[in-house]
Amino acid sequence: MASLTANGVRDNQRQKVYDWENKKIQPMLKKDLTLEECRKLITEVFASYGLEPPEVKDGRGRRSACWERPYTIKLPTFARKPVPVLHECAHGIVDRYYKVRGEAPHGTTFLRIYLNLLAKFGKLPLRTLRSSAAEAHLNVAPASTCLPPPAALVRRMWELQRAERAAYSIWQNTKKELDAIRAQLARSKA
Ligand SMILES: [Zn+2]
Repeated sequence: MASLTANGVRDNQRQKVYDWENKKIQPMLKKDLTLEECRKLITEVFASYGLEPPEVKDGRGRRSACWERPYTIKLPTFARKPVPVLHECAHGIVDRYYKVRGEAPHGTTFLRIYLNLLAKFGKLPLRTLRSSAAEAHLNVAPASTCLPPPAALVRRMWELQRAERAAYSIWQNTKKELDAIRAQLARSKA
């Protein structure tokens, strides 16, 4: 079944990716994870791209795991395993860094990042992954189109994101106190 995404792109590889994942990849990486372990893995994956970890929510009641814009991963109990977790991380990282206009969610760029994550964090040999994807007739973007971000930029981004968080919390506290004073003044006028 081909599905249409919000911008009308046909996601032709979607079912093929799911089938390949279930038949070929899951059996190599069966481990069950707790929600906390999933969070830890997601944090490591995003940090390796210089990104803050997304919010990880309990996705119970959902039929599958999902990456939800702007920045959330939902994980039903049965999806708390390395393969679905890395699948959703790949969506998130493509969304942040490697988005190609007009490309489907399970397009060639997604596949490339997904293979990279399975190799790095699932410790599966990249060569095996590549040949298994080729056998399943999956199209994978060349590695050269998805180069990892330079380490120096990744580090700087971390620093700036931390500073941004601190500034935001100062802003929040300032606003809270100001609002409280304004409310108090309004009451004293009445
Ligand atoms: Zn997907």
